[in-house]
Amino acid sequence: METQPLSGKVALVTGASRGLGHSIARTLAQAGATVIVNYHSSPAAADAVVQDITRHKGQAFAIQADVADTAAVERLFRQIRERVGAVDILVNNAGIGVPKPFLEVTLDDWQQVLQTNLTSAFLVSQAAIPAMMAKRFGRLIMISSTAAQTGGVIGPHYTASKAGLLGLVHSYASLLAQHGITANAVAPALIETDMIKDNPKITPDLIPMKRFGQPQEVADAVLLLATNGYINGQTLNVNGGLYMS
Ligand code: NAP
Repeated sequence: METQPLSGKVALVTGASRGLGHSIARTLAQAGATVIVNYHSSPAAADAVVQDITRHKGQAFAIQADVADTAAVERLFRQIRERVGAVDILVNNAGIGVPKPFLEVTLDDWQQVLQTNLTSAFLVSQAAIPAMMAKRFGRLIMISSTAAQTGGVIGPHYTASKAGLLGLVHSYASLLAQHGITANAVAPALIETDMIKDNPKITPDLIPMKRFGQPQEVADAVLLLATNGYINGQTLNVNGGLYMS
């Protein structure tokens, strides 16, 4: 029987109950990984993702955790250690938008978005990295955004959080390369999920291809970063040509 590229690996996908996280979880499971489907407030949706994966002969289970909360992240990793040991592939995908006219963005909005989108990635990565170093294998993948490169349409709080993820990637990429761990970002825009669906400012006309991207197109980029051992410190753009680098 042919071995799948991620056989024997454990992948944690944060915010995997919907949208991009769902497709990423399914794609990593189809490549052979055992996938932890993290969610915050949608247990039924997370269960449906697990069922979707197991129906297709993949392995997955769901764990609730608010990844913006230090104690919840500690609990999450305790449960992961008990069930499967260490995380080999971490996809920091959980995120929120909170779109607002920029002069109406409050300090509370700023702190909520930074905590959920950026501090969470720091907390979860810091929890995952020691075991990756011990195994001399790890893949850290941050779901940033084209907003980090162009400014975007959601607001300065969101853009700063997504640009912060690129800094986190650059730091981990240089610090961890000698330990067999790569760190990379995927910068998508505009992908057809709940996050963009009710925002009248977000239309396919913004994209040179004149269509929204599909979650699977982002998941394909994540799979590349999960399976490749020499791409390190990079941002992979999945944006229909909205930003070119
Ligand atoms: P989405 O459909 O709104 O899904 C967001 C996911 O994040 C949900 O599974 C949600 O879980 C989870 N989540 C939110 N806060 C969380 C927390 N504190 N702890 C754990 N999970 C949490 O969004 P999406 O479009 O798939 O976006 C996924 C990521 O891609 C985000 O980081 C987003 O910024 C980024 N992104 C999206 C686009 C786009 O065009 N869609 C473009 C660029 C970047 P529950 O449902 O359980 O609450």
